[in-house]
Amino acid sequence: MSAQSSSHCRSCQSANQSTFNGEIAIHFPGLEGVDKPIVWVFPKVLVCLNCGFTEFAVPEKELGVLVSGSSGGDATVVSRENDAGKRKSLSIKTVQKSLGVRLHQVLPPRY
Ligand SMILES: [Zn+2]
Repeated sequence: MSAQSSSHCRSCQSANQSTFNGEIAIHFPGLEGVDKPIVWVFPKVLVCLNCGFTEFAVPEKELGVLVSGSSGGDATVVSRENDAGKRKSLSIKTVQKSLGVRLHQVLPPRY
């Protein structure tokens, strides 16, 4: 057995995986999530090119937001309380408005 189990897909065991730069907005689920911050992470994502299973790690400060449910420190979040004219915040709000609260998956890349 290989010691490098991470070199194979955890779902289909394929070795045909590749690393990409990810840009992911994490939303708290359910109605209560409407008042929670949206957490942005930009991880390296390991994508199985065979089945699509993807792995990534949430960085520590963003993980803290997911744990506490409130924005703090310098984690990259979009707060619904405070849009402060940030372009990213506004665009996310626009997307949220058009999709309602069902937007809780990965957003497509902007480029
Ligand atoms: Zn796979």
